[in-house]
Amino acid sequence: MKILIIINNDYESFDHSNLEVFGFIEQLSNTSDITILAFGGPKEIISRLPGNNIFYNDLKNNEHNYNDIAETINLFIKEENPDFLLFQKDDYGNFIAPMLAFRNKFPYIPDVKKVVSQTDEEIKLIRPIHGESAEAVYNVRKKSTVVIKIRKNSFEEIDLKRPIRSINNISLSKSTKTNYNIVETNKMTPEGLQLGEADIVVSGGRGMGSKENFDKITNLAGLFKGAVGASKAAVESGWIPPGNLVGLTGKSISPHLYLTFGISGASQHLAGCLNSQNIISVNIDESAPIFKYAKFGVIADCNDFLEELIEELKKIK
Ligand SMILES: Cc1cc2nc3c(=O)[nH]c(=O)nc-3n(C[C@H](O)[C@H](O)[C@H](O)COP(=O)(O)OP(=O)(O)OC[C@H]3O[C@@H](n4cnc5c(N)ncnc54)[C@H](O)[C@@H]3O)c2cc1C
Repeated sequence: MKILIIINNDYESFDHSNLEVFGFIEQLSNTSDITILAFGGPKEIISRLPGNNIFYNDLKNNEHNYNDIAETINLFIKEENPDFLLFQKDDYGNFIAPMLAFRNKFPYIPDVKKVVSQTDEEIKLIRPIHGESAEAVYNVRKKSTVVIKIRKNSFEEIDLKRPIRSINNISLSKSTKTNYNIVETNKMTPEGLQLGEADIVVSGGRGMGSKENFDKITNLAGLFKGAVGASKAAVESGWIPPGNLVGLTGKSISPHLYLTFGISGASQHLAGCLNSQNIISVNIDESAPIFKYAKFGVIADCNDFLEELIEELKKIK
């Protein structure tokens, strides 16, 4: 089985959830012919990944042009003719995977969280749909390249015990196929600890009522050494930057503990947080949908509750 994996990393950091893509491959076969195409990230770690060939572009000089990256990947698709083109669910994957599937008329399955079974001819995969309220089972016939985006925290990370190997440096191809060009990309970095890295995430929604009140979310997250999240309503109110948005259009998170204050639990918000191991929610309305998914629910005014919680935590710190 031929597999082409696309790995993206920002700056010099390595997103360890990339290792889950290899966990997915191990479930498919132990004898796959793997080509890795890596954009950005520390070369030393990337050279330890289990690929037959590793190609690398450092994305220095701010070359974050999606069209050029897609064009570069396209050249590899033509060369390799892979059975699977694999992406991690990250900002690049979200943008480039559907673009490549569309341009090449390949089937595309985003958010894959489980391999049910596979034979030489077909593979059965599961992905959540309708904001996590249902699961779709896909039967994919291995006839042409299938583009798959892996959901975070769904497959086991492989270890990185392999020795350092040489990798092939490549330059980006310039795309001529589009009638627009991205001249600059300004990355929105979330305030405080990054959402994907935090073990505890504290999120606030419209129920917080004001920017001043929302600052209590930041205080609490600080006390827990956690990250700050938000619903779209809070982001649109200007209480917190878009980089902190959790949900369908924001980040998918899977912390050990997810605390929500004044968030109703709309399906688009749930789409980004239902992989959390434990959800605790505070809402004044006992019929708020978020309570269906929360391990513990507190029916209270979120501002009063937050103030008391912060005071109590300060006493024990
Ligand atoms: C295409 C699309 C994509 C979207 N993507 C996202 C996304 O990625 N992330 C996202 O979050 N949303 C997203 N949305 C928006 C989503 O549908 C909801 O509108 C949004 O999540 C609502 O935010 P909220 O829960 O803060 O506000 P609301 O739904 O208005 O809920 C506020 C909650 O606060 C409670 N409350 C009010 N006052 C208090 C109080 N004093 N104390 C305690 N509780 C109180 C209320 O009972 C209510 O449950 C998207 C929508 C669309 C159409």
